[in-house]
Amino acid sequence: MRTGNVILVGAGPGDPGLLTRKGLEAIAQAEVVVFDRLVGPEILGLIPENAEKIDVGKQASNHPVPQYRINQILLEKALEGKRVVRLKGGDPFLFGRVGEELELLKENGIPFQEVPGVTSALSVPAYAGIPVTHRNYCSSVHIITGHAKAGTELKIDFDALRRTKGTLVFLMGVTALPMICKGLLDSGMDGDMPAAVIERGTLPRQRKVVSTLAELPKAAENAKIVSPAIIVVGKVCGLSDSFDWFDNLHLKGREIIVTRPAERNGSLCGKLSALGASVTAYPCIRTVERVNNPELDTAIGKLNDYRWLVFTSPAGPEIFFRHLRKQHKDARALANLKIAAIGPKTAGELEKFGVFADLVPETYDSDYLAQTMAWVEGPVLLCRASEGSDAMPRLFAEKGIPFADIACYDTVYEAPNSDSVRELVESGAIVTFTSASTVRGFARSLPDTDYSNIIGCCIGRQTAAEAEQYGIPVRIAEKATMDSLIECIKGVC
Ligand code: SAH
Repeated sequence: MRTGNVILVGAGPGDPGLLTRKGLEAIAQAEVVVFDRLVGPEILGLIPENAEKIDVGKQASNHPVPQYRINQILLEKALEGKRVVRLKGGDPFLFGRVGEELELLKENGIPFQEVPGVTSALSVPAYAGIPVTHRNYCSSVHIITGHAKAGTELKIDFDALRRTKGTLVFLMGVTALPMICKGLLDSGMDGDMPAAVIERGTLPRQRKVVSTLAELPKAAENAKIVSPAIIVVGKVCGLSDSFDWFDNLHLKGREIIVTRPAERNGSLCGKLSALGASVTAYPCIRTVERVNNPELDTAIGKLNDYRWLVFTSPAGPEIFFRHLRKQHKDARALANLKIAAIGPKTAGELEKFGVFADLVPETYDSDYLAQTMAWVEGPVLLCRASEGSDAMPRLFAEKGIPFADIACYDTVYEAPNSDSVRELVESGAIVTFTSASTVRGFARSLPDTDYSNIIGCCIGRQTAAEAEQYGIPVRIAEKATMDSLIECIKGVC
C-alpha cells in the first residue's frame, strides 16, 4: 500500500490572498483535509470536491474535537495511505499545538512536512497600520499567549516584558485583556503607552480600537471586542491612524452580494474584495447548455443562408463553436456573416475563437441591440438563452426581417445558503445584477423578502427595469463592463 503523509499548512490570518502558493498546492493535492475554526470559507472552498473534509474546530456545538483525537485522526488517515493536509489558522508552529500532532506521526514513522503561514501576530497589526518594529521606537517584537493552560493561572513575567522596551503582541488575550494591562502597569509601564486591540484582522469586518495601556480595557469593552483579536502594546501603535490603509479602502466593510453564475463571478468577487468589501458569492443562476441541439446543428449546417449571427450573452459563443467543431468547421465558416455581440464581454468571448464582432452596441441591452439592428438585411441567426427577452424577435417581426431564434442554453435558477443572504438583504447590502435572469433568480431564492434596503447595481437598463419590478432601488453602470460596475458600486459607497 502507498504510504500516506501529512502536510501541516498555515492558512494565514483570514484574508484568503495571504495563503501561500505552497499551501495552495498542498490543498489542491489533498485527499483529506483536517481544519480548524479560524480557517475561512474562501480557503475551505479551495479544497478539492472529492477530498474528505474533517472539521475539528466546530464552534456551534462548543465541543471542539479534543487534541488527542485530532492526533489520532491524522495518524489513522495517513496509515490508510492518504495525502493528509492539516490546515491551521495563521502559522501552524505559532501557538498551534502541533507539537503533539507531530510527535505521534514521528513515533509511527509517518512522513510529514510543514508549510509556514502568514501569522496573525504580524499581519493583523499590519492591516491596522501598525508596523511591529520601527527604528525610532523599538528594536524587538515579542509574541505572547494571553491564554492560560486549562486550570492554571496566567503566568506572564511582565517585568521582563517591560524591560525589553519592544513591541508586545498578545494572542488569545481578549478575556485576559484587563489582567494583561494591569500586569504591565504594575510592572511600571507608562499608562500612556499606546496600545491597540484588533478584532477579525485582515478580514472585511476587521475592527480596531487604539488607545493607551491604561484605557484599553475600557475602550475594548465599550466596543464589545470579541475573539479572535490581537492586543498590541508599544509606541508603534501610535502610527496606526496615519499608516492605516485597510480601513481607508473604498469599499471597506461593505456587504456586497454577487449574483453572477458561479463560473463567471471570479474576477468581480476578487476585485471587490481587494477594495475591502465583504463579498458573498451568491450564484442564483446557472446556464446549462442544450447538448443535443438539432436546431442549432441544422442552422450551422446552412450558415450561408444567413447574413447576421447574433450573440446575446457571453455563454453563447463557446456553445456555438462547440457545435461548429462537431461538424468539422472552424471560424472560416463565418466568413460571409456579420456578427453582433450584446456587449464587450460577449465580444471578448468571440475573440477567443478568433472572431471579431462587427457590431457591439454602446448600450448593453437587447432592446438597444434590436434597435441598432433594425436596418439590417436578414436572415438573422439568434443564438441565445431559451427564455431570452422578446425585444429582438418582436422588432424583427415588425420590420419583416427574417430570423431564426435558436435556444443554445437554459437558465436554471438556484441559490445556496439563502438564510444568511436574507439577513444581509434585510440589513441593506449592495447586490450586483448582470442580467435580468440574475434578478429573477435572486428574487425566486428569497421570496417574501423586503428588498427596499438593498441597492441593486445593474449592468443594462433591462436588468435595472427587472429589478425595479421587485421594488429594488437600482443604479446602472455606465458601461457593460465589470470595471464600470465596480465604479457604479463605488459611487454608492
Ligand atoms: N497560529 C495562529 C495563532 C493561533 S492562536 C497564527 O499564527 O496566527 C489563536 C489566536 O490568534 C486568536 O485568539 C487571536 O489572538 C489570534 N488571531 C488569529 N487570527 C486572527 C485574526 N484574523 N484577527 C485577530 N486575531 C487573530
